[in-house]
Amino acid sequence: MAKKTPDNLGPATRLVGAGRSAEWTGTPSQPGSVVSPPVWRASTHLYPDSAAVHAGKPNEDGHFYYGRRGSPTQWALADALTELEPGAAGTVLYPSGVAAVAGALFSVLRPGDVLLMTDNAYEPTRSMARGLLKDMGIETRWFDPLDPAAFAAAACERCKAVLLESPGSLTLEVQDVPALSALARERGIVVVLDNTWAGPLAFPALERGADIVVMSLTKHVGGHSDLMMGSAAAGEKYYAKLRKTAQSLGQVVSPDDAALALRGLRTMGLRLERETASSLALAQWLSARLEVARVLNPMLPGSPGHELWTRDFSGGCGLFSLVFKGKDGKARDAFIDALTLFGIGYSWGGFESLVTPIDPAGLRTATRWPLPGMDAADRFGVRLSIGLEEQADLIADLERGLAAWSAA
Ligand SMILES: *Cc1c(COP(=O)(O)O)cnc(C)c1O
Repeated sequence: MAKKTPDNLGPATRLVGAGRSAEWTGTPSQPGSVVSPPVWRASTHLYPDSAAVHAGKPNEDGHFYYGRRGSPTQWALADALTELEPGAAGTVLYPSGVAAVAGALFSVLRPGDVLLMTDNAYEPTRSMARGLLKDMGIETRWFDPLDPAAFAAAACERCKAVLLESPGSLTLEVQDVPALSALARERGIVVVLDNTWAGPLAFPALERGADIVVMSLTKHVGGHSDLMMGSAAAGEKYYAKLRKTAQSLGQVVSPDDAALALRGLRTMGLRLERETASSLALAQWLSARLEVARVLNPMLPGSPGHELWTRDFSGGCGLFSLVFKGKDGKARDAFIDALTLFGIGYSWGGFESLVTPIDPAGLRTATRWPLPGMDAADRFGVRLSIGLEEQADLIADLERGLAAWSAA
Protein backbone atom coordinates (compact mmCIF):
# COMPACT_ATOMS: atom_id res chain seq x y z
CA MET A 1 0.00 0.00 0.00
CA ALA A 2 2.38 2.63 -1.21
CA LYS A 3 -0.02 5.54 -1.06
CA LYS A 4 -2.25 6.59 1.77
CA THR A 5 -5.43 4.50 1.52
CA PRO A 6 -8.92 4.88 2.96
CA ASP A 7 -9.59 2.56 5.90
CA ASN A 8 -13.09 1.42 4.89
CA LEU A 9 -11.88 -1.05 2.25
CA GLY A 10 -13.41 -4.47 1.64
CA PRO A 11 -11.52 -7.68 2.50
CA ALA A 12 -10.33 -8.44 -1.04
CA THR A 13 -8.82 -4.97 -1.35
CA ARG A 14 -7.22 -5.20 2.08
CA LEU A 15 -5.61 -8.54 1.16
CA VAL A 16 -3.99 -6.90 -1.85
CA GLY A 17 -2.56 -3.98 0.11
CA ALA A 18 -1.78 -5.53 3.50
CA GLY A 19 1.79 -5.07 4.71
CA ARG A 20 2.96 -3.30 1.56
CA SER A 21 4.00 -0.06 3.23
CA ALA A 22 6.55 2.06 1.39
CA GLU A 23 8.99 1.26 4.20
CA TRP A 24 9.11 -2.41 3.17
CA THR A 25 8.79 -2.05 -0.61
CA GLY A 26 10.89 1.01 -1.41
CA THR A 27 10.02 4.65 -1.97
CA PRO A 28 7.48 4.93 -4.82
CA SER A 29 8.90 8.23 -6.06
CA GLN A 30 12.28 6.59 -6.64
CA PRO A 31 13.10 3.93 -9.21
CA GLY A 32 13.60 0.44 -7.80
CA SER A 33 10.62 0.19 -5.51
CA VAL A 34 8.79 -3.12 -5.75
CA VAL A 35 5.29 -4.57 -5.36
CA SER A 36 6.09 -7.37 -2.89
CA PRO A 37 8.47 -6.92 0.05
CA PRO A 38 11.74 -8.62 -1.00
CA VAL A 39 13.35 -11.44 0.95
CA TRP A 40 15.70 -9.70 3.34
CA ARG A 41 18.16 -12.31 4.57
CA ALA A 42 20.31 -11.19 7.50
CA SER A 43 21.53 -12.28 10.90
CA THR A 44 23.63 -9.14 11.32
CA HIS A 45 22.35 -5.64 10.71
CA LEU A 46 25.22 -3.18 10.34
CA TYR A 47 25.25 0.22 12.04
CA PRO A 48 26.94 3.20 10.33
CA ASP A 49 28.86 4.18 13.51
CA SER A 50 28.92 3.66 17.27
CA ALA A 51 26.67 6.67 17.81
CA ALA A 52 23.97 4.82 15.87
CA VAL A 53 24.46 1.76 18.10
CA HIS A 54 23.94 3.87 21.21
CA ALA A 55 20.92 5.64 19.65
CA GLY A 56 19.34 2.35 18.49
CA LYS A 57 15.90 1.18 19.54
CA PRO A 58 16.74 -2.49 19.85
CA ASN A 59 13.50 -3.63 21.42
CA GLU A 60 10.97 -2.04 19.11
CA ASP A 61 9.45 -3.62 16.03
CA GLY A 62 10.45 -2.27 12.67
CA HIS A 63 13.93 -1.18 13.81
CA PHE A 64 17.05 -2.92 12.60
CA TYR A 65 18.87 -4.52 15.51
CA TYR A 66 19.72 -8.21 15.04
CA GLY A 67 18.29 -10.98 12.84
CA ARG A 68 16.41 -12.69 15.65
CA ARG A 69 14.27 -9.57 16.00
CA GLY A 70 13.29 -9.85 12.34
CA SER A 71 13.88 -7.83 9.19
CA PRO A 72 11.57 -6.06 6.71
CA THR A 73 10.17 -9.30 5.19
CA GLN A 74 8.94 -10.60 8.56
CA TRP A 75 7.81 -7.13 9.63
CA ALA A 76 5.77 -6.75 6.43
CA LEU A 77 4.01 -10.08 7.10
CA ALA A 78 3.35 -9.22 10.75
CA ASP A 79 2.03 -5.79 9.66
CA ALA A 80 -0.22 -7.42 7.06
CA LEU A 81 -1.74 -9.80 9.59
CA THR A 82 -2.24 -6.97 12.08
CA GLU A 83 -4.01 -4.89 9.40
CA LEU A 84 -6.35 -7.82 8.71
CA GLU A 85 -7.18 -8.45 12.39
CA PRO A 86 -9.53 -5.76 13.75
CA GLY A 87 -8.50 -4.74 17.28
CA ALA A 88 -4.93 -6.03 17.01
CA ALA A 89 -2.02 -3.86 18.12
CA GLY A 90 0.50 -6.30 16.70
CA THR A 91 1.21 -9.85 15.54
CA VAL A 92 3.99 -12.21 16.58
CA LEU A 93 5.19 -14.84 14.09
CA TYR A 94 6.21 -18.36 15.12
CA PRO A 95 7.83 -21.25 13.23
CA SER A 96 4.57 -23.27 13.41
CA GLY A 97 0.98 -23.07 14.59
CA VAL A 98 1.81 -25.25 17.59
CA ALA A 99 4.63 -22.85 18.52
CA ALA A 100 2.06 -20.02 18.37
CA VAL A 101 -0.28 -21.89 20.74
CA ALA A 102 2.65 -22.49 23.11
CA GLY A 103 3.78 -18.85 22.79
CA ALA A 104 0.31 -17.60 23.70
CA LEU A 105 -0.15 -19.97 26.67
CA PHE A 106 3.35 -19.31 28.06
CA SER A 107 2.61 -15.58 27.89
CA VAL A 108 -0.35 -15.80 30.28
CA LEU A 109 0.18 -18.89 32.50
CA ARG A 110 2.50 -19.49 35.46
CA PRO A 111 3.12 -22.55 37.70
CA GLY A 112 0.10 -23.12 39.95
CA ASP A 113 -2.37 -21.73 37.42
CA VAL A 114 -5.24 -23.68 35.88
CA LEU A 115 -5.95 -23.65 32.14
CA LEU A 116 -9.46 -24.35 30.88
CA MET A 117 -9.54 -26.02 27.49
CA THR A 118 -12.33 -26.80 25.08
CA ASP A 119 -12.72 -30.56 24.69
CA ASN A 120 -12.49 -30.36 20.88
CA ALA A 121 -9.05 -28.71 20.85
CA TYR A 122 -6.38 -29.69 18.32
CA GLU A 123 -4.61 -32.87 19.46
CA PRO A 124 -1.09 -31.36 19.82
CA THR A 125 -2.62 -28.58 21.95
CA ARG A 126 -4.14 -31.23 24.22
CA SER A 127 -0.80 -33.06 24.37
CA MET A 128 0.96 -29.83 25.31
CA ALA A 129 -1.43 -29.47 28.25
CA ARG A 130 -0.97 -33.09 29.36
CA GLY A 131 2.81 -32.97 29.00
CA LEU A 132 4.79 -29.76 29.03
CA LEU A 133 2.24 -27.60 30.87
CA LYS A 134 1.57 -30.30 33.47
CA ASP A 135 5.31 -30.70 34.06
CA MET A 136 5.50 -26.94 34.64
CA GLY A 137 2.83 -27.15 37.34
CA ILE A 138 -0.03 -25.91 35.19
CA GLU A 139 -3.21 -27.96 35.49
CA THR A 140 -5.71 -28.25 32.60
CA ARG A 141 -9.45 -28.85 32.90
CA TRP A 142 -11.52 -29.68 29.82
CA PHE A 143 -15.09 -28.57 29.18
CA ASP A 144 -17.88 -29.29 26.68
CA PRO A 145 -17.46 -26.87 23.74
CA LEU A 146 -21.24 -26.58 23.31
CA ASP A 147 -22.07 -25.83 26.94
CA PRO A 148 -21.21 -22.36 28.33
CA ALA A 149 -22.65 -23.49 31.70
CA ALA A 150 -20.04 -26.27 31.83
CA PHE A 151 -17.35 -23.65 31.25
CA ALA A 152 -18.75 -21.45 34.05
CA ALA A 153 -18.87 -24.49 36.35
CA ALA A 154 -15.25 -25.42 35.57
CA ALA A 155 -13.95 -21.88 36.22
CA CYS A 156 -12.06 -21.47 39.50
CA GLU A 157 -9.90 -19.03 41.46
CA ARG A 158 -6.71 -20.43 39.97
CA CYS A 159 -8.08 -20.41 36.39
CA LYS A 160 -6.00 -17.85 34.51
CA ALA A 161 -6.63 -18.68 30.86
CA VAL A 162 -9.03 -20.51 28.60
CA LEU A 163 -8.18 -22.03 25.25
CA LEU A 164 -11.06 -21.97 22.76
CA GLU A 165 -11.06 -23.42 19.27
CA SER A 166 -14.11 -22.70 17.14
CA PRO A 167 -14.96 -24.72 15.16
CA GLY A 168 -12.86 -27.34 16.98
CA SER A 169 -10.62 -29.94 15.40
CA LEU A 170 -12.09 -33.09 13.77
CA THR A 171 -15.66 -32.71 15.09
CA LEU A 172 -15.99 -29.00 14.24
CA GLU A 173 -18.41 -27.88 16.97
CA VAL A 174 -18.81 -24.09 16.87
CA GLN A 175 -18.48 -22.39 20.26
CA ASP A 176 -20.32 -19.34 21.57
CA VAL A 177 -17.13 -17.27 21.68
CA PRO A 178 -18.88 -13.98 22.66
CA ALA A 179 -20.72 -15.66 25.58
CA LEU A 180 -17.69 -17.63 26.75
CA SER A 181 -15.48 -14.54 26.49
CA ALA A 182 -17.95 -12.53 28.59
CA LEU A 183 -17.98 -15.27 31.27
CA ALA A 184 -14.17 -15.38 31.19
CA ARG A 185 -13.80 -11.60 31.42
CA GLU A 186 -16.04 -11.46 34.55
CA ARG A 187 -13.64 -13.92 36.16
CA GLY A 188 -10.36 -12.35 35.02
CA ILE A 189 -9.60 -15.30 32.72
CA VAL A 190 -7.60 -14.55 29.54
CA VAL A 191 -9.25 -15.87 26.37
CA VAL A 192 -6.92 -17.50 23.82
CA LEU A 193 -8.73 -18.53 20.63
CA ASP A 194 -7.34 -20.82 17.95
CA ASN A 195 -8.99 -19.24 14.89
CA THR A 196 -7.22 -21.28 12.22
CA TRP A 197 -10.47 -22.54 10.59
CA ALA A 198 -12.13 -19.17 9.98
CA GLY A 199 -9.27 -16.67 10.01
CA PRO A 200 -9.84 -12.93 10.48
CA LEU A 201 -11.95 -12.42 7.33
CA ALA A 202 -14.72 -14.81 8.44
CA PHE A 203 -14.40 -14.37 12.21
CA PRO A 204 -12.79 -11.19 13.65
CA ALA A 205 -11.79 -12.92 16.88
CA LEU A 206 -10.68 -9.96 19.00
CA GLU A 207 -13.91 -8.10 18.19
CA ARG A 208 -15.87 -11.21 19.20
CA GLY A 209 -14.23 -11.25 22.65
CA ALA A 210 -10.90 -13.11 22.44
CA ASP A 211 -7.85 -11.51 24.10
CA ILE A 212 -5.31 -13.39 21.98
CA VAL A 213 -6.00 -14.93 18.57
CA VAL A 214 -3.78 -17.74 17.33
CA MET A 215 -3.59 -19.13 13.79
CA SER A 216 -1.64 -21.81 12.01
CA LEU A 217 -0.48 -19.89 8.92
CA THR A 218 0.51 -23.30 7.55
CA LYS A 219 -3.14 -23.66 6.48
CA HIS A 220 -5.02 -20.84 4.68
CA VAL A 221 -2.28 -18.20 4.59
CA GLY A 222 0.44 -20.50 3.23
CA GLY A 223 -2.18 -22.23 1.10
CA HIS A 224 0.26 -24.31 -0.94
CA SER A 225 1.34 -27.05 1.50
CA ASP A 226 4.98 -25.96 1.38
CA LEU A 227 5.29 -23.80 4.48
CA MET A 228 5.04 -24.08 8.28
CA MET A 229 4.25 -20.96 10.33
CA GLY A 230 2.02 -19.63 13.08
CA SER A 231 0.88 -16.29 14.44
CA ALA A 232 -0.59 -14.75 17.57
CA ALA A 233 -2.21 -11.31 17.56
CA ALA A 234 -3.63 -9.20 20.39
CA GLY A 235 -4.39 -5.69 21.60
CA GLU A 236 -1.65 -3.60 23.33
CA LYS A 237 -1.59 -5.41 26.68
CA TYR A 238 -1.30 -8.99 25.50
CA TYR A 239 0.72 -8.16 22.40
CA ALA A 240 3.49 -6.85 24.69
CA LYS A 241 3.41 -10.12 26.67
CA LEU A 242 3.41 -12.25 23.51
CA ARG A 243 6.38 -10.42 22.13
CA LYS A 244 8.42 -10.61 25.33
CA THR A 245 7.77 -14.35 25.66
CA ALA A 246 8.61 -15.02 21.99
CA GLN A 247 11.87 -13.09 22.36
CA SER A 248 12.79 -15.01 25.52
CA LEU A 249 12.16 -18.29 23.70
CA GLY A 250 14.18 -17.07 20.69
CA GLN A 251 11.28 -17.49 18.27
CA VAL A 252 12.00 -16.27 14.75
CA VAL A 253 10.78 -17.23 11.26
CA SER A 254 12.84 -17.28 8.10
CA PRO A 255 12.44 -14.33 5.69
CA ASP A 256 12.01 -16.83 2.83
CA ASP A 257 9.04 -18.37 4.62
CA ALA A 258 7.64 -14.92 5.44
CA ALA A 259 7.79 -14.02 1.73
CA LEU A 260 5.95 -17.26 0.85
CA ALA A 261 3.30 -16.50 3.47
CA LEU A 262 2.87 -12.98 2.02
CA ARG A 263 2.46 -14.51 -1.43
CA GLY A 264 -0.15 -16.93 -0.10
CA LEU A 265 -2.01 -14.13 1.62
CA ARG A 266 -2.66 -12.29 -1.66
CA THR A 267 -4.82 -15.13 -3.03
CA MET A 268 -6.24 -16.32 0.30
CA GLY A 269 -9.59 -14.59 -0.20
CA LEU A 270 -10.13 -16.13 -3.64
CA ARG A 271 -9.07 -19.58 -2.48
CA LEU A 272 -11.32 -19.41 0.59
CA GLU A 273 -14.31 -18.33 -1.51
CA ARG A 274 -13.86 -21.25 -3.86
CA GLU A 275 -13.12 -23.82 -1.11
CA THR A 276 -16.08 -22.64 0.93
CA ALA A 277 -18.50 -22.97 -1.99
CA SER A 278 -17.19 -26.46 -2.86
CA SER A 279 -17.14 -27.55 0.77
CA LEU A 280 -20.80 -26.59 1.20
CA ALA A 281 -21.84 -28.27 -2.07
CA LEU A 282 -19.98 -31.49 -1.21
CA ALA A 283 -21.29 -31.46 2.37
CA GLN A 284 -24.85 -31.18 1.07
CA TRP A 285 -24.28 -33.95 -1.46
CA LEU A 286 -22.75 -36.23 1.21
CA SER A 287 -25.50 -35.58 3.76
CA ALA A 288 -28.07 -36.97 1.30
CA ARG A 289 -26.17 -40.27 0.92
CA LEU A 290 -27.31 -43.43 2.71
CA GLU A 291 -23.68 -44.46 3.45
CA VAL A 292 -23.19 -41.29 5.53
CA ALA A 293 -24.52 -40.98 9.08
CA ARG A 294 -23.39 -37.43 9.77
CA VAL A 295 -21.63 -34.54 8.05
CA LEU A 296 -19.84 -32.28 10.51
CA ASN A 297 -19.58 -28.98 8.68
CA PRO A 298 -20.48 -25.77 10.55
CA MET A 299 -22.01 -24.32 7.39
CA LEU A 300 -24.55 -27.17 7.21
CA PRO A 301 -27.81 -27.03 9.21
CA GLY A 302 -27.76 -29.76 11.86
CA SER A 303 -24.00 -29.58 12.41
CA PRO A 304 -23.18 -28.81 16.08
CA GLY A 305 -23.17 -25.04 16.59
CA HIS A 306 -24.44 -24.26 13.08
CA GLU A 307 -26.72 -21.52 14.51
CA LEU A 308 -23.65 -19.85 16.07
CA TRP A 309 -21.82 -20.05 12.76
CA THR A 310 -24.79 -18.33 11.09
CA ARG A 311 -24.85 -15.66 13.80
CA ASP A 312 -21.11 -14.95 14.23
CA PHE A 313 -19.27 -15.90 11.02
CA SER A 314 -19.23 -14.26 7.61
CA GLY A 315 -17.49 -17.11 5.81
CA GLY A 316 -16.09 -20.60 6.04
CA CYS A 317 -13.43 -22.80 4.49
CA GLY A 318 -12.91 -26.20 2.90
CA LEU A 319 -12.40 -28.30 6.04
CA PHE A 320 -15.05 -30.67 7.38
CA SER A 321 -15.61 -34.25 8.55
CA LEU A 322 -18.03 -37.02 7.71
CA VAL A 323 -19.03 -40.09 9.69
CA PHE A 324 -20.03 -43.35 8.01
CA LYS A 325 -23.20 -45.24 8.85
CA GLY A 326 -21.89 -48.22 10.84
CA LYS A 327 -19.34 -50.69 9.40
CA ASP A 328 -15.73 -50.63 10.55
CA GLY A 329 -12.29 -49.15 10.10
CA LYS A 330 -11.56 -51.44 7.17
CA ALA A 331 -14.51 -50.02 5.21
CA ARG A 332 -13.35 -46.52 6.06
CA ASP A 333 -9.85 -47.35 4.77
CA ALA A 334 -11.40 -48.74 1.57
CA PHE A 335 -13.14 -45.38 1.06
CA ILE A 336 -9.88 -43.48 1.54
CA ASP A 337 -7.84 -45.77 -0.71
CA ALA A 338 -10.41 -45.59 -3.54
CA LEU A 339 -10.14 -41.79 -3.78
CA THR A 340 -7.91 -40.59 -6.59
CA LEU A 341 -8.07 -36.79 -6.21
CA PHE A 342 -7.69 -36.58 -2.41
CA GLY A 343 -4.13 -36.92 -1.15
CA ILE A 344 -3.84 -38.90 2.10
CA GLY A 345 -2.02 -36.65 4.53
CA TYR A 346 -2.19 -34.29 7.47
CA SER A 347 -2.73 -30.56 7.34
CA TRP A 348 -5.34 -28.69 5.31
CA GLY A 349 -6.07 -25.35 3.67
CA GLY A 350 -3.88 -26.05 0.64
CA PHE A 351 -4.91 -25.76 -3.02
CA GLU A 352 -5.23 -29.56 -3.23
CA SER A 353 -7.85 -31.78 -1.60
CA LEU A 354 -6.79 -34.05 1.27
CA VAL A 355 -8.34 -36.84 3.34
CA THR A 356 -7.38 -38.33 6.72
CA PRO A 357 -9.08 -40.89 8.97
CA ILE A 358 -10.40 -39.48 12.27
CA ASP A 359 -10.84 -41.27 15.60
CA PRO A 360 -11.99 -38.63 18.08
CA ALA A 361 -12.91 -41.15 20.86
CA GLY A 362 -9.43 -41.08 22.39
CA LEU A 363 -9.32 -37.28 22.31
CA ARG A 364 -12.23 -36.61 24.66
CA THR A 365 -12.19 -35.84 28.38
CA ALA A 366 -15.36 -33.88 29.20
CA THR A 367 -17.50 -35.16 26.34
CA ARG A 368 -17.81 -38.35 24.31
CA TRP A 369 -17.61 -39.71 20.79
CA PRO A 370 -19.91 -40.38 18.96
CA LEU A 371 -21.50 -37.01 19.75
CA PRO A 372 -24.83 -36.86 21.60
CA GLY A 373 -27.68 -37.81 19.27
CA MET A 374 -25.42 -40.02 17.14
CA ASP A 375 -25.78 -43.80 17.00
CA ALA A 376 -23.01 -45.64 18.90
CA ALA A 377 -22.33 -47.70 15.76
CA ASP A 378 -21.55 -44.60 13.71
CA ARG A 379 -17.95 -44.01 14.83
CA PHE A 380 -15.70 -44.20 11.79
CA GLY A 381 -15.10 -40.98 9.99
CA VAL A 382 -12.76 -39.04 7.76
CA ARG A 383 -11.77 -35.42 7.58
CA LEU A 384 -11.78 -33.78 4.17
CA SER A 385 -9.92 -30.65 3.16
CA ILE A 386 -11.48 -29.39 -0.06
CA GLY A 387 -9.11 -27.78 -2.53
CA LEU A 388 -9.50 -25.88 -5.76
CA GLU A 389 -10.40 -28.81 -8.06
CA GLU A 390 -13.69 -28.87 -9.98
CA GLN A 391 -16.68 -29.72 -7.78
CA ALA A 392 -17.99 -32.30 -10.27
CA ASP A 393 -14.63 -34.14 -10.31
CA LEU A 394 -14.50 -34.23 -6.51
CA ILE A 395 -18.07 -35.55 -6.31
CA ALA A 396 -17.27 -38.29 -8.83
CA ASP A 397 -14.25 -39.21 -6.69
CA LEU A 398 -16.34 -39.34 -3.49
CA GLU A 399 -18.82 -41.54 -5.36
CA ARG A 400 -15.92 -43.96 -6.09
CA GLY A 401 -14.95 -43.88 -2.41
CA LEU A 402 -18.49 -44.61 -1.23
CA ALA A 403 -18.80 -47.52 -3.68
CA ALA A 404 -15.60 -49.03 -2.23
CA TRP A 405 -16.95 -48.46 1.31
CA SER A 406 -20.17 -50.26 0.41
CA ALA A 407 -18.28 -53.16 -1.16
CA ALA A 408 -15.94 -53.57 1.83
C1 LIG B 1 -2.71 -27.35 12.06
C2 LIG B 1 -3.30 -26.72 13.25
C3 LIG B 1 -2.50 -26.17 14.25
C4 LIG B 1 -1.01 -26.29 14.26
O1 LIG B 1 -0.40 -25.73 13.18
P1 LIG B 1 1.04 -26.18 12.62
O2 LIG B 1 1.41 -25.05 11.77
O3 LIG B 1 0.82 -27.47 11.91
O4 LIG B 1 1.93 -26.36 13.82
C5 LIG B 1 -3.12 -25.54 15.30
N1 LIG B 1 -4.46 -25.47 15.38
C6 LIG B 1 -5.25 -26.00 14.45
C7 LIG B 1 -6.72 -25.86 14.59
C8 LIG B 1 -4.71 -26.66 13.36
O5 LIG B 1 -5.51 -27.24 12.45
